[in-house]
Order: sequence, then C-alpha cells, then structure tokens
Amino acid sequence: MTTWFSDYVEKVVDALGNDMLRSALEKVSTRFPRARLQLLKELPYYEYYRKRVRESRVWSLEHIDELIWMAKENIEKTGAVFHYANTGEEAVNYIANVLRDRGAKLIIKGKSMVTEEIFLNRALIERGFDVIETDFGEFLIQIRGEKPSHPVVPAVHLTIDEIAKTLTNFLNKEIAPEHHACVKAVREYLREKFFKADAGITGANAIAADTGTIVLVENEGNARFVSNAPPIHIVVTGVEKIYPTVEDAIIASMLIIPNAVGLKMPSYISLITGPSSTSDIELVSIRGAHGPRELHVVLLDNGRLKMLKSQDFKEALTCLKCGTCLNICPVYRELSGLVWGYIYSGGIGAIWTSFIYGLEKAAPLAFTCLQCGRCKTVCPMEIDIPEMILKLRRLLIESGYIPPPISNIAKNIEEYGNPYGVLEKKVE
Ligand code: SF4
Repeated sequence: MTTWFSDYVEKVVDALGNDMLRSALEKVSTRFPRARLQLLKELPYYEYYRKRVRESRVWSLEHIDELIWMAKENIEKTGAVFHYANTGEEAVNYIANVLRDRGAKLIIKGKSMVTEEIFLNRALIERGFDVIETDFGEFLIQIRGEKPSHPVVPAVHLTIDEIAKTLTNFLNKEIAPEHHACVKAVREYLREKFFKADAGITGANAIAADTGTIVLVENEGNARFVSNAPPIHIVVTGVEKIYPTVEDAIIASMLIIPNAVGLKMPSYISLITGPSSTSDIELVSIRGAHGPRELHVVLLDNGRLKMLKSQDFKEALTCLKCGTCLNICPVYRELSGLVWGYIYSGGIGAIWTSFIYGLEKAAPLAFTCLQCGRCKTVCPMEIDIPEMILKLRRLLIESGYIPPPISNIAKNIEEYGNPYGVLEKKVE
C-alpha cells in the first residue's frame, strides 16, 4: 500500500484504540461548543464584532502588500527590528543568528503555532540553544516529545493521570494526579527560567500596521513574562496577521477566546509597541528599562502569499486559528490533531498543509473529511472548508494522491460496474 496512506492508517487505528485520547476528546467536543453557544447568547455585540473582523481580514488580505510595508515602517519607527522571511528556513536562520550574536543560551517561549510550523524548537536545540516552552500545555507536549493536538489547547489529548505521570518522570519527584498539584509543579519549575532567560520568543495574534503594535492574547500570563522579562523579545508570525489599525487588531484578537473555549474575555491582552525604554533621566532615552531592550518582529510568508493568489483557497487565509471548527468536528473527536493534522489540524489544516508542506502531507487529511459541513456553520470567518476540501481532493487526484481503497473502488466500477468487484448476476 502507498506509504503516505498506510502510515496514516496505522496512526488512525492506534488512535481509535486509545481510551485516554477518547476520554480527553469527549471533553473538548462537548464542553467547548456548549460553552461557546451559551456565551454567544449573552454577547449582543458578538455578531457585529464577528462581521467586522471578517471584513477587516478580507480587506487586509486584498491590501497585503501595502500593509506589510506600512507595518515594517511603523515597527521600525518604534525602535524594533523588522525582518521579512520568505520561508521557514529563513525565519529560523534569522532568529538563530540574532540569538548567537547576542550570546544567548537559555530561550523561553510562548505558545505559537507559527514556531511549530517552522520547527523552530528543534532547529534551535540542534544549534545548541536551551529552549523551554512556558505555556502549560506546550510545556507538557515539549517534555513528552509530541506535537500540539489543538491550536488553542495543545495538550488537550492528555488526561490528568497521564500529565501527573509525565511531570513525575520529568521533575524526578512524585506529582499527584491532581490539577492544582500539576500546575504548581510547572509554575515552580518555570519561575526562575523566566528571569534567567536570555531571550523570549512569542507569536502574535495580530499586528497593527498603523502603529506597529503586536497583540498577544492569553490566559496563563506566561506570554507576558516571555515578552517582558528577558532582555530580547523575538516575535514570529505570519503575514496574514496584519490588520490596518490597532483597533482592528485588538477586536480580531478578542474574537478567538469566546469562539475557542467559550470564555468572554482572555485574562490578558498585551499590546507591545517597540522595545522597553525610559527617558526619565534628563530626557535621555535609554533602552531596556524593565522590559526587553531589543524587539525583533519576523514576518513569515512560507506559502501564504501563494495561497492568497489562489482563487480556490485564498479564503483559508482569513482563518483565526481559533479551533472552533475542530471542537465540533466528528473526525477530530475520534482522531485529534495528533493524527488528523500535520502541524495544522482538521479540514482547514489540510488546506494550510497543502500550501506549506505540499500535497503528500495534505492527502490523508483531505480524504478523511466526512463532508458533514459542521465546521462551516460555526466558523466565525464563514470559511467554506468542505467546499475547499473538495477542490483540494480534485488537485490531489490529478497529482496521483488517491487512497488505495478509493482507487480500487473506481477500478471495480470501471471493470465490473459495481464498487465490490464482483460479477453481477444478470436478472432474467
Ligand atoms: S477555519 Fe474558522 S473555525 Fe476553524 S480555526 Fe479557522 S477561523 Fe476558527
């Protein structure tokens, strides 16, 4: 059987027999959609915000070239360094060079799907840096050597027993399978790392072109430490995250948490406009007062502009990475993003995967979609994922990526007139 398909089938079979995964996913697919529905009833302005964000994303993508230039100009005006990376490799090299030139050793990170996309941790660790994730879920999957199973709650596939076992092994001391105990253990372990780190790396939920402001949304408070405690802060994010104004950027970032997990507001929204500085002594401006003295913003293409040029798929770029479509998806509920995803999960992940990593990686994901259409009904950006999956399947078939069971059915229909490959009895 073709390797790209047989390897995937093996993972599917494993996932279907994994009771721990089953029980964890059950919680995601019931709790989050229920909380979201309840919350939306209580937010009279939600629909206004949602439409406004969609309009602003569509407009921004239509004007992406000018927004990139405007963002560059305004980010540089704040005293930060702007770097445009065409590929993941370029972004990784830039970041590694900055860290090496400053003699950095210990690097702390906030949750960022873009850094997962470009395999930043692996690349930095291979170059000798010590890289530590600080979001609770990301920390867990890092020490387990896994990848995120959900864009907003990356370790959602793990039960409390599994988490306690992982922490006990990693920290070399008994951690009780109890929620407070697990959070406390990670908090204590990470606390000194925040202040010892030489650099912090985060993603961005949005960038405002008019002010060069970075918007970061979170609940844990770790991204605040990462972006504020070390002397260097590096932001790496995709070109599609640029909005024309700071107001647009804030509203768009505020839309993620209600949709993703059904919470009205995230605990923290950080707005970062340039490096830290003070002019309190004789009006002389000094960088690095309490926060970082250096801020680098790496804006990544990595297939996004190609996606934007495609009439069939450009809509996928409006995705907020809120994960709402995954929470309601029957395939995700069975497999999680660990199986039904390369880096980006689910139907929307299949589209992104095809542009970032190529058709072969996207093929098993695209053919697993059930075409039930539930994702389309909840997507705040109204992305027609099922329709795009059909278009992707056409592309895959034209390129020879057809799952063997499907090509067998097609052959049988051609030869025998039925999908089973048996000669039909003639009815007298
Ligand atoms: S496709 Fe829509 S629902 Fe799914 S992650 Fe993107 S914005 Fe959220």
